[in-house]
Amino acid sequence: MSYDNNNIFAKILRNEIPCEKIYEDEYVLSFYDVNPQKKIHALVIPKGKYVNLDDFTSKATSDEIVGLIKGINIIAKKLNISSDIGKGYRTIANVSEHGGQEVPHLHFHIFGGEKVGKIVE
Ligand code: AMP
Repeated sequence: MSYDNNNIFAKILRNEIPCEKIYEDEYVLSFYDVNPQKKIHALVIPKGKYVNLDDFTSKATSDEIVGLIKGINIIAKKLNISSDIGKGYRTIANVSEHGGQEVPHLHFHIFGGEKVGKIVE
């Protein structure tokens, strides 16, 4: 699985394109989706070059995997939608063609701020 260095999230990671940043640490960057589908629509991406969840799962280090999963929780807390301080959210990762993935850098969507609705159309 080859990684396209010119995908839009790679450009955001290199600061070539701006984003509305929510959170950043050693492992993840999070920013608002430009085309929000819910009241809150954030994206969380690993800093490493991974095309999708399968690529990440097979190649990422344990620290990167933990960093990404913990990152989702940190960001949900920051957005006040985590289940301990808020009303919850949905996180999904679209994978490849049938998953409807458009940007070929692994990303989790975080939807919240209102009832998210049915899981698939
Ligand atoms: P996916 O279909 O899972 O690959 O989702 C890609 C998401 O990236 C879509 O929800 C887009 O609205 C979002 N997106 C594309 N370009 C940008 C950008 N420059 N900044 C923030 N979000 C973006």
